[in-house]
Amino acid sequence: SRDFDDDNDPGRVRVSVRVRPRNGEELKSDADFADLVELQPEIKRLKLRKNNWNSESYRFDEVFTDTASQKRVYEGVAKPVVEGVLSGYNGTIMAYGQTGTGKTYTVGKIGKDDAAERGIMVRALEDILASASSSSSVSVEISYLQLYMETIQDLLAPEKSNISINEDGKTGEVSVPGATVVNIQDLDHFFQVLQVGETNRHAANTKMNTESSRSHAILTVYVRRAMNEKAETGTKSPKPESLGDKGIPRVRKSKLLIVDLAGSERINKSGTDGHLIEEAKFINLSLTSLGKCINALAEGSSHIPTRDSKLTRLLRDSFGGSARTSLIITIGPSARYHAETTSTIMFGQRAM
Ligand code: ADP
Ligand code: MG
Repeated sequence: SRDFDDDNDPGRVRVSVRVRPRNGEELKSDADFADLVELQPEIKRLKLRKNNWNSESYRFDEVFTDTASQKRVYEGVAKPVVEGVLSGYNGTIMAYGQTGTGKTYTVGKIGKDDAAERGIMVRALEDILASASSSSSVSVEISYLQLYMETIQDLLAPEKSNISINEDGKTGEVSVPGATVVNIQDLDHFFQVLQVGETNRHAANTKMNTESSRSHAILTVYVRRAMNEKAETGTKSPKPESLGDKGIPRVRKSKLLIVDLAGSERINKSGTDGHLIEEAKFINLSLTSLGKCINALAEGSSHIPTRDSKLTRLLRDSFGGSARTSLIITIGPSARYHAETTSTIMFGQRAM
């Protein structure tokens, strides 16, 4: 299988697909899904029925059936990106799909008391903290943002809204200077912070009278490693961020973005509610713009059009180039959502 170390194909997006288990209602009423989608995890393919006569088979980096564990999904989707971040490369992990198909379960599930249930955010922090604890020279910080209608809100300090994005003209480094940054000591501390973020996300959406499915949630993990020259010799590592003066350690910085994207379903624009129409426009803007960037990456284009939305501006230094990007698309197991499932699969295919 292709992997990130393939020097012939740097910056490419790793794309996986996961189907959610049927819920009670679907178990009773929905026998036709197998006619629409057939998963072939051993050969990493998914067969999609196009019409009564034709089906087409698509290849993915990983194909996860409804029995795949959170651990396996983490290892197939996220671990290579996390390892990259620990060696100094930026990375992005994103979940894309219709509301209700398991994006939040896959990336954001906390599972404090049930380790098997933990999603990608928690497992990534576990790995990063384990690496940090073996060395006093590593610091781990996070910020947790929500992006809704091109406005960034701080999920760790809800009074901060409309936070702006800064891009360093020289280095291209993207930062969000107004965002709360929390130094994470251990996993319990991370559970606490993540829980605060979740609570604030619910409160913010209740107040704005919106669904959390309409916003993107973005966890950024900043890893800083003070470099000990002796320990680093011989490793193939990117250039350090800064060469300190004598006595001041050189620091290598990298960051990991984990993004629980807004639901990809089309929003009904024909309503008379002006608010809903605005919203639809903005949500489509960031997902459409993300799609364009991902296509450009897949085509090996030298121009990735990241300027069009805040989402892609935030991602700018964390995908493409030397950064590692992994996209998991989630689909529901119901034949009823034929159109949305097909459009999600196509979004994933365009990224490859
Ligand atoms: P989304 O974030 O895409 O809207 P959710 O993650 O909230 O979807 O999932 C919808 C429901 O399905 C939730 O109750 C969630 O716990 C459940 N679910 C999703 N994926 C799985 C899975 N792989 N195994 C068990 N339950 C799942
Ligand atoms: Mg969700």
